[in-house]
Amino acid sequence: MKENICSIPINDVFWPKDGCPMCRMRDMLEQRKAEYVTGAAMMEPNVRVKTNEQGFCYRHFAMMVQQGKRLSNALILESHLQQISETLVPPEPKAKPDKKRMAALEALLNDCFICRDIKENMENMVRIVHAMWLSEPEFRQLYHEQPYICLEHFYLLMTVDQKGLGKQLQAFYEETSKLTGGYVITLKNEVSHFCRMFDYRSAGMSWGNSRNAIERAVEFLTGDKLPVQDLPEDFEEETSE
Ligand SMILES: [Zn+2]
Ligand SMILES: [Zn+2]
Repeated sequence: MKENICSIPINDVFWPKDGCPMCRMRDMLEQRKAEYVTGAAMMEPNVRVKTNEQGFCYRHFAMMVQQGKRLSNALILESHLQQISETLVPPEPKAKPDKKRMAALEALLNDCFICRDIKENMENMVRIVHAMWLSEPEFRQLYHEQPYICLEHFYLLMTVDQKGLGKQLQAFYEETSKLTGGYVITLKNEVSHFCRMFDYRSAGMSWGNSRNAIERAVEFLTGDKLPVQDLPEDFEEETSE
């Protein structure tokens, strides 16, 4: 089964106007791929050849174990471990550490079958977003109304296939910079306000939007949500450090 990334409806992903739309896209791709690897891909020997070689990062192993069948995960691990044993870490080497083998091991430690796939698909998504922004006024408006684009996806939107934007490159850069750069200032001000709230002179002041400024700043910088925590209550209940 070859997945069709065009089946991700870009308009639907941008419609909620809640957080970074490209992160939402990434989450969808990630979810689908993790399901696919422990599902339909079990019947695809060529996928196993790749997963044996590339392995998975912690994040994606965790997703696969959480949503895939136990047996599927075990079968994937069985042949992956087998391959590591045969090619990278022989149990009884009779020589000095092999440079090539160590380099291959380093590559494996930084590799992930799902991360690779997401990278490739997100680059294709960027090309589609560029094309829609160029040709569809409604989408251009929808793009304009996004709360922000996170740092990683700002980078992706600005660097993947710039040529595709042609003469509109500068306009797209200006528009996207408003979304990302504007949000950086908003976040910075909210984090500053958060810090100020720990000053005794701020007694009785409102937290405004700053209560979850840490969580939102981390999400903007990493594309990942922090676990939900208790947010600060009224000033009186806070102790300054
Ligand atoms: Zn993002
Ligand atoms: Zn990964």
